[in-house]
Amino acid sequence: MARALLEHEAKQLLRDHGLPVQDFLFCPTVDEAVEAAQKIGYPVVLKIVSPQIVHKSDAGGVKLNLKNEAEVRSAYEEVMASARRYDPQAEIKGVLVCPFAGREEELIVGAINDSQFGPVVMVGLGGIFVEVFKDVSFGIAPVTLAEAQEMLESLTAYPIIKGTRGRAGLNMEMLKELIVGVSEFICKYPVQELDLNPVFCSKDSVSVVDARILLRE
Ligand code: ADP
Ligand code: MG
Repeated sequence: MARALLEHEAKQLLRDHGLPVQDFLFCPTVDEAVEAAQKIGYPVVLKIVSPQIVHKSDAGGVKLNLKNEAEVRSAYEEVMASARRYDPQAEIKGVLVCPFAGREEELIVGAINDSQFGPVVMVGLGGIFVEVFKDVSFGIAPVTLAEAQEMLESLTAYPIIKGTRGRAGLNMEMLKELIVGVSEFICKYPVQELDLNPVFCSKDSVSVVDARILLRE
């Protein structure tokens, strides 16, 4: 049996491990969500928190770029209503409030504890690169910074990560540290599966925006 952590539980564990997780506040009520939005600073994002809802957007459970209290209040009502419509049986714990981050490159970092290979870490550029081209690379955990570098270099999308003429690259040092950190994380905890999707990345920052962790029990 495996147990899925709620998003904020997964993010807290990753943050405790020193990984660069975007700010988040878990809020069981709408008033707490409004307070959290003030604390975090507008614009914010609201996301449904329910053990049964794994793909939040599919359930209408993600609202981006909320600019004030009124927008937070109506977004809260909307995500609650959509989630209930999507799965009337779902146990809804509340919402996560996060800062809204502008357009950045989206990456995916994953890891599994494979019965044959043991712990494995994976990286790829988000969107069509992963979904259509299956452009991902793997490393046996724990990986070193040099191995993380090789993983990035073996991606077809590497020119986007490194930067090409007229286009700034991403922060390779932080990206490599994240891959190494995740590979150490999966060796340290009884994790069956881990999925960071997306990780936002620019030339000067790396930030885990969504996290799913399945614990082995
Ligand atoms: P899920 O994968 O469960 O649908 P995500 O948390 O990944 O939920 O959110 C869905 C999408 O919304 C992300 O892939 C990303 O493009 C966007 N998104 C989520 N959180 C933020 C944020 N804080 N800032 C900007 N965009 C976000
Ligand atoms: Mg996601």
